[in-house]
This record gives sequence, structure tokens and C-alpha cells, in this order.
Amino acid sequence: MNRVFNFSAGPSMLPVPVLEKAAAELVCYGESGMSVMEMSHRSPDYEAIIQKTQADLRKLMNIPDNYKVLFLQGGASTQFASVPINLIGRTGKADYVVSGQFSGKAFKEAQKMGYDVRCIATTKDDNFDHIPTITADMVRPDAAYVHVCYNNTIYGTKFANVPDTGDVPLVADMSSCILSEPVDVTKFGVIYAGAQKNMAPAGVTVVIVREDLLDYCDPKAPTMLEWKTMADNDSMYNTPPCYTIYMLGLVCEYLLEQGGLEAMKEKNVKKAALLYDYLDSQDYYIAPVKAGSRSMMNVTFVTGNPDLDKKFASEAAKAGMKNLKGHRSVGGMRASIYNAMPYEGVAALVEFMKKFAAENPKA
Ligand SMILES: *Cc1c(COP(=O)(O)O)cnc(C)c1O
Repeated sequence: MNRVFNFSAGPSMLPVPVLEKAAAELVCYGESGMSVMEMSHRSPDYEAIIQKTQADLRKLMNIPDNYKVLFLQGGASTQFASVPINLIGRTGKADYVVSGQFSGKAFKEAQKMGYDVRCIATTKDDNFDHIPTITADMVRPDAAYVHVCYNNTIYGTKFANVPDTGDVPLVADMSSCILSEPVDVTKFGVIYAGAQKNMAPAGVTVVIVREDLLDYCDPKAPTMLEWKTMADNDSMYNTPPCYTIYMLGLVCEYLLEQGGLEAMKEKNVKKAALLYDYLDSQDYYIAPVKAGSRSMMNVTFVTGNPDLDKKFASEAAKAGMKNLKGHRSVGGMRASIYNAMPYEGVAALVEFMKKFAAENPKA
């Protein structure tokens, strides 16, 4: 059985050398005589794994010492609640940018808890086809934080630049763009991401939080949601998602060997350009995202005919390119081209798109 080009938005492709290393170590890890899956999280072998994972992630992302790195459970969706729970106490209010479905869910979660939260900008009326412009004067100066989703996985949009929120800490959901290119961590108060897009299998959520923001947690918060408790216990307050953290460690090690995030960016820019250049060169497919907001990781396009879209996804799957169907809420097609998607995968997709367009003329 050959591996396909898997364009899934998440869980998504992992680098083959990482899968092979995990396979080789699956039954017996090093000299331990057991699988990482069977290890006590308090054992010296596992201690070494989690510490190296954190050290390599810090090196990759150039995370300064005054930031904590937490390995949590519950997915990015749990952080939609954890963010206000941990931060709102700073000033009692927070501002949100709603640029897609996930940022909308984050906003709703904070509202649900009765906090004073406000949406300062949204592109909902334009079907989220671009990222709103954010300027410091839109933000309440006494907001505890501003929340954004940095890359909108479903709509295929991304902030081209870090938004200016003045002195108000910026909180970013980076689930679908983390590790795709270098980011200046110092411009953020908090970065969080579920692992299953561009980091590891599902099961671990990474939270990178500036230390001075750990002091504002709602005293009634469930202990498991308190970042400070997790930080004080090195993510070992309870059993962490051990195996997924190990997989994240393998991915980080691999990315460092490949030249780190500068090298990833170079690769990802080329992959995305191949696809967008083709989309811009023809009129069979329509790319709905406005210039300046295009995602490098999730590329959306439609034929304009839902039956053809459906046929496209099913024929592409037969040709070895799977999961090209757009999110159920938007339809059309979406090619998720994270770090592990090779250039050849995108090239094969573009060739398929040309062939499909030639063989399926629109009436
Ligand atoms: C996938 C995704 C989520 C949801 O992540 P879970 O880990 O499934 O909770 C949230 N935000 C973004 C940007 C995503 O891509």
C-alpha cells in the first residue's frame, strides 16, 4: 500500500522519517525495555523525553526564558475557555477579533461564562474572505487581552502581520500555522495550538504564556484549567498526554535537522505559491480569499458548481490525493499543505486540477 498525499486539515500528514522513527521505537524505547506508551510519566526516561521536547520547541520557535511552555489536554477548544479564565482577572474585560469559525467559538465561550467581552472586528458579513485590519485605537486600553485566530483553517485566511494592540497582550490561536514559519514570540502574551495540524498527532495542546500573565486566574477555575498550576508542575500536575508529547519531540527534532522554521518557511512559501499562482492564472477555479489575507497552510478554492466540487474531491481521492473536500460549513475544496506535505504533493494537485478542468467543462 502506497502512502497518498493527504490534504486533510487535521489530523494531518506527519513527516515520514518521524513515523518511521516512532515505528522503530514503538515496542522498545532505548534501553528502557518498554514502549513510551507504557512508561510512567515520572520515570527518568520519560522526564528526559518531555524535557528534550520542550527544549527543542523552545529552540525552534526561539521562545524567550520569560515564557512558560505547557503541554495540556483538551485541544485548542478547551483553551477557548482557559484563555478568559486565566486572563480576564487582569482588568475584568477582553476584546476579540472574529475572523472565522474558531475565533467565533472562542468569543462565544468567553461570553457564555458571563465575562465582559467585546468583538472589535469581524469579517462575517464578507463570509470571512479576508482578515480585518486591527489598529491599537480599536482596542480598549484596559482590556486584559485581545484574542485572535492567526490562521483561519476553515476559510484559508491568515494575518499577514502581527496586529498592533498597543500595550494590551495579544493572545493567538495558532493551531494551523504554528511551526510553519518563524514568529516573534515576544509580540504575543499567549500563543496556543492544538497539535494535530502541524505538530503531532491529536492529544496535546501547546500553550506558550508570558510569565507575568500567570497571576490573574479566576479563583473558581477548575484546577486543570489553571495555567499557573500546570506551569508550576512542569505540565505534570496529572498525567500528561505522554505519547503525543513524545511524537511532538520527534517532529521538533526533525524540523531542527531540516534547518528550523526559516527552512520550513522557504519550503512552505514555494508550495503555496505553486498553488496560488496556478489559481491566479486561470478562471475555472475561484479562490475566494482576498489578496493580503491568504493562508500559506490552508488553500481554499471552488469551481462554483457544488456537483463539480464533489466530483473533484472524489476523483482526486482516486488519484491518490485525499481529503480535498472543503469544511462542511463552507463546501468547495481545501488543500491543507502543512510542513509534512511535500512539494511533489502540491505539484501533483496542480496537474490534477488542470486535467480535471479540461475534462469537465462548465456548461
Ligand atoms: C482545529 C482548530 C481548532 C480546534 O482544535 P481542537 O484541538 O480540535 O479543539 C481551533 N482553532 C484552530 C485555528 C484550529 O485549526
